[in-house]
Amino acid sequence: MSNKVLVMGLGRSGYGAIHLLKKFNYEIVVTINDSLSLKDKDNLSGIKVFDNGHPLSLLDEDFAFIVKNPGIKYSIPFIQEALKKGIKIITEIELAYNLTNNTYLAITGTNGKTTVTTLVYDIIKEQLAHVLCAGNIGTALSEVVCEYGNDNIIVTELSSFQLMGIDKFKPHIATILNLAPDHLDYMPTLESYYESKLSIYQNMNKDDYFLLNIDDTNVVKYVKNINCNIITFSLMKKADIYLKDNNIFFKDELIMNTNEIKIIGQHNLANILVAVGFAKLMNIDNCVIKKVINNFKGVEYRLELVNGLNNNTYYNDSKATTPDSTITALKALSNKELVLILGGFDKGLDNNLLINYINDHHNIISVYAYGQIKDKFNDIKVPLNKMNSLNEVVKDILNKYHDINILFSPATSSYDQYDNYEVRGAHFNKLIRGDNDENSF
Ligand code: ADP
Repeated sequence: MSNKVLVMGLGRSGYGAIHLLKKFNYEIVVTINDSLSLKDKDNLSGIKVFDNGHPLSLLDEDFAFIVKNPGIKYSIPFIQEALKKGIKIITEIELAYNLTNNTYLAITGTNGKTTVTTLVYDIIKEQLAHVLCAGNIGTALSEVVCEYGNDNIIVTELSSFQLMGIDKFKPHIATILNLAPDHLDYMPTLESYYESKLSIYQNMNKDDYFLLNIDDTNVVKYVKNINCNIITFSLMKKADIYLKDNNIFFKDELIMNTNEIKIIGQHNLANILVAVGFAKLMNIDNCVIKKVINNFKGVEYRLELVNGLNNNTYYNDSKATTPDSTITALKALSNKELVLILGGFDKGLDNNLLINYINDHHNIISVYAYGQIKDKFNDIKVPLNKMNSLNEVVKDILNKYHDINILFSPATSSYDQYDNYEVRGAHFNKLIRGDNDENSF
């Protein structure tokens, strides 16, 4: 069998794959879409690189497999041709799984992945050694296993794009937190997006555990044929993990009450229930679970409370890149009078549920919509201000509002004006704090 591997695309996942493949003495060929930067040239010295596209003629070479960046669509001609030739295409998650031996706690879903991954990692590392965190959350899994080798417990956040490129990957404990519309710009249909998540449990067996959200109708509808132990969780019903009178139970054992939890919203309580499930299945002590959960203040740009100008209370939820996650934020703040900021890149999602929610809830007193998507919210009935940029929005808000709650929960991605939601979130914080370089608006 050939020892030669094609890595398509760089970024964190491409470099992770390259480092791991190098460690295992594979011959590596790289293709990238754009031109190679000087930094990349330095990093890739000694490796054969094709830039400005993926030449079809390369497929005549004998590759053992292709490691594809999760962002590259399966529909491009190169991938279609490779599939026709029977070349295996994986993501670096599968590569890491195949080349090393670790225990995986895997988390996917439309919303809440990073929050739950962080919380599970924080709890488990408090009591156990060799606990790592990887995947969609930050460092590529291949990079992590390249550095730490075998015999670790790796809490892994997985996107649907990463899951589409797995074959043998088998977590010991896994969950699909929820399923809601997203990524219609990448996936051919909503069903195919939901189904891509299901592969997380395809290889799990009787030694493994799947945490099943019985409150989510899509999860209940799509999740089928599970061959491992199922642990149910619910905020509303009796389940293996459930909430009753502000107490969290695991298999009827009281774990903790919710009085001192700092993160807000029902969705975060659901996130906590799942995290309790992972922790209990890993035999973490209740006092450790309780201490870490009570101290957890959430992850940056997810309903993050930020102090800013005019004595307003600002909630920075820049990570809300779907209408669904904005509704979640609105529900968490339903007892507060709010000004809501929406806007960004139009990725073609249906905004009707969000618009209806806004129209039905009188605590939302005004809405700002900016950027490419701004004309998609015309059916909102509360005063609607349409603007071009976030700078203009914040400037107007600072002229009009004092001592009020401002929720920045854009409901879509940032790509029309920002590199990603983190850059957008940081920019919002600068604007509302009146940081010097932003004063000019
Ligand atoms: P992800 O990594 O899946 O994008 P995050 O943990 O970064 O998820 O949270 C992103 C946003 O999703 C949050 O700001 C919140 O609005 C929403 N969210 C978080 N957890 C849940 C949940 N369990 N159910 C629904 N929405 C959620």
